[in-house]
Amino acid sequence: MPILHVSRSLYRALAAEVGGDWQAVARRRQRVLDACELTVARIEREPDFANPTRFLFDEVRSSFPIGRQEHVRRLIAVHMELAQRAVAAQPPERRPCSALTRRGTPCLREAVGSGDLCPSHRQLTPASERHSDAAVAAGAALPAA
Ligand SMILES: [Zn+2]
Repeated sequence: MPILHVSRSLYRALAAEVGGDWQAVARRRQRVLDACELTVARIEREPDFANPTRFLFDEVRSSFPIGRQEHVRRLIAVHMELAQRAVAAQPPERRPCSALTRRGTPCLREAVGSGDLCPSHRQLTPASERHSDAAVAAGAALPAA
């Protein structure tokens, strides 16, 4: 199941369980929808996001009758498992390094981490002219100290 479908599927299952009068149901369903989408987005973006089932259940449990909460917790657990599998199955995102090589051509290496630079360009300070490993090795373009 694609990850975009997981939060919708979970929401539909949970919406049917929401308790209260019609105004409370409308308000609680919106809160549940928001919490489902937030939780799935965190699973996607935060590799260290620990225990999404507990996070989401704590967010929404007050919207459900006590007698349905264990069922709700199980629904959440099943869907969080699906979301985590969907994320694991996604191909890693490839972003090219945004720096230029010494020849002025775009760097072809892959950006890493949260920035948009490859490991070599990442190490360079903005003021430095040391734009590639080759330049460092050759000692080219480095002012004499
Ligand atoms: Zn680079």
